[in-house]
Amino acid sequence: MIASGVLGAAPRCLGAVSGARAGPTVVITGGIHGNEPAGMHAAREVLAELRPRRGLLRGKVVAFSGNRRALERGVRFVSRDLNRGWHAPELERLAAAPEYALSIEDQEQRELHGAILTLEREAARLVFLDLHTTSGPTEPFVCFSDTPENRTLACALSVNVVLGLERTVDASLLSWASARGHVGVSFEAGQHDDPGAVRRHVGAVWLLLVAVGALEAAHVPDEASHVAALAPDAGRRALVVEVRHRHVVAVDDDFDMVAGFVGFDPIHAGQIVARDRRGPVRAPEAGLMLMPRYQGQGEDGFFLVREVACAPRPRGAERAPA
Ligand SMILES: [Zn+2]
Repeated sequence: MIASGVLGAAPRCLGAVSGARAGPTVVITGGIHGNEPAGMHAAREVLAELRPRRGLLRGKVVAFSGNRRALERGVRFVSRDLNRGWHAPELERLAAAPEYALSIEDQEQRELHGAILTLEREAARLVFLDLHTTSGPTEPFVCFSDTPENRTLACALSVNVVLGLERTVDASLLSWASARGHVGVSFEAGQHDDPGAVRRHVGAVWLLLVAVGALEAAHVPDEASHVAALAPDAGRRALVVEVRHRHVVAVDDDFDMVAGFVGFDPIHAGQIVARDRRGPVRAPEAGLMLMPRYQGQGEDGFFLVREVACAPRPRGAERAPA
């Protein structure tokens, strides 16, 4: 069980290790949502293992905490989602505003943004790994702004790949980073309190360091265990899916997800997946369930995704996933 809300105030910078040789600057963020501390635990664990290996490291690894005040309280956010509003006009407003005019998340965003800009002055191009967990159980997956370089990074983790998620939410941290020419992916490691989520985050960090050339695979401690932590269960394969539908929840919707969904569960068209004050909420089309909301906060009720077809289907062959 990973304790939420008992961390005290995490420092903004969780640690940094500079390698002996030139290479990429990798920025790890954990706890952008305050009820998701697993990524911070993982980042600290990897940094501790990296320090004695700095002679083998190319470049630099820096880890930042996300929503520090929400992390203290063990909630997703205090007044608004910190993974929204990452666009230039809003960031300029935050930079210019007096402290008293800023909400808690405004302050968190201004500080984190400032820390990233400081890194940008040292390295023109950064590599981001934004670590998250979900309220319901799920196989791990990765999402990103869809560029060829981000796809390469995502595929290096050998987990389910979700395309199009960044387009459905408003101005996330990584969509901002991508627009500034950086690369990076968000990694969803499983349910918030699943101890396996920390193991998968740790594995994702190590595999990403290898993928970007910061470390040789042979220099990763117990590399095989990290590969195994991310590998699909026996008999399964990593999926590439695209987002087909996002159910948006308003604060007064009384949204209540039907219990028992697991990420990537097959859903049929018209299936009742939740209830709100208007009545049953039905899936508008067949697909796979992604991120069903089993927590009180957040405007994303659930997503429906569908496996990407690599070859054109004959007309009329469209069907629900088995
Ligand atoms: Zn999150």
